[in-house]
Amino acid sequence: MTKVWVLGAGQLGAMLQQAAYPLALDVHPLAPEDETLPEISAADIVTVEREQWPDTALTRHLSSQPGFINAAIFGRIADRLYQKTMLDELEINTAPWLPVTASSHAEALHAEIGEDILLKRRTGGYDGKGQFWLYQDQGDEIPSDWLDAAIAEQKIPFEEELSLVGARDADGNKVFYPLTLNLHSNGILMASVAPLERVKHLQSQAEAMLGKIMDSANYIGVMAMECFRVKDKLIVNELAPRVHNSGHWTQAGACVSQFEMHLRAVSGLPIKAPEVRGQSVMINLIGVARNIDWLNIPSSQCYWYGKDVRPGRKVGHININHPNKKAVQTALVKLRPLLPENYGAVFDWVQDELAKI
Ligand code: AMP
Repeated sequence: MTKVWVLGAGQLGAMLQQAAYPLALDVHPLAPEDETLPEISAADIVTVEREQWPDTALTRHLSSQPGFINAAIFGRIADRLYQKTMLDELEINTAPWLPVTASSHAEALHAEIGEDILLKRRTGGYDGKGQFWLYQDQGDEIPSDWLDAAIAEQKIPFEEELSLVGARDADGNKVFYPLTLNLHSNGILMASVAPLERVKHLQSQAEAMLGKIMDSANYIGVMAMECFRVKDKLIVNELAPRVHNSGHWTQAGACVSQFEMHLRAVSGLPIKAPEVRGQSVMINLIGVARNIDWLNIPSSQCYWYGKDVRPGRKVGHININHPNKKAVQTALVKLRPLLPENYGAVFDWVQDELAKI
């Protein structure tokens, strides 16, 4: 069996492992802090389920392997400064931005980018962490520890957030899932809805953008592109060179999930355009205690990550899928009382979106 080593042992590594079984691939997620260094042969594949990793004996060992896929691109994409530079070079729409240097001042940034500016740390930010708003009318200054460590981005008055998950194989073949509509709260993904007829006309625009990015990097595997929609224009917010939370619905709603697609691409197996079935909704479980009654919700799959529950922490997700939209709406009505009060706005948003489909 071909061995696939995964740098990272969180839920994404676990879901890659689950998807590997029918492909007869032997997937081993590894935590960067692991002290035992596995014996890796030249024929083995090494892939990644996280954007950043600490410099440890294990990460050095993994990234020096000949089978380490996309070695050239990871460092670049993980640093927002390089990611934004790459998007500009490829002439792909992204929020206007400037690097925050040691001598940057808020006043100069406002003069060039606008009144409301979002500072984002170059590395290490995720789920809304590593962000700092600079409002001109409040006279905000750049905190000293953000100098030389961030980029400054114009606030985009977006209508909604869409993401595209795609995959590319070593021969340059590319496949894409339909655009996914995402709801974030405090920078954390709360829910996704896919597919949506009303954004179908944006699919080719999104595929051209992500296709260009993957081709330019000679990328192999699944990549996610998070976008803002402003009228009919897509603006890239962020790229994730890995399987992505906004693609979790594909476990229930596509004939090949994003996890299986990634493994196919990195291990040289055929990738095929995924047939999408019915209507899907994904609800993220953020900082909530496990409730086994979730397992009784019709038309659903429940993924519990087995992590300690902490506020703001992703501890699981629930996919709801059915050929009939009405059945998805009914399942959501049954799930709603099984989640805390603060999920009310999430359910309202999902039901509103389903009603529009
Ligand atoms: P990020 O960590 O870059 O994925 O950003 C997390 C969330 O912050 C996004 O999903 C948006 O809701 C919001 N956000 C990020 N960048 C901008 C921007 N330039 N303008 C407005 N909102 C933003």
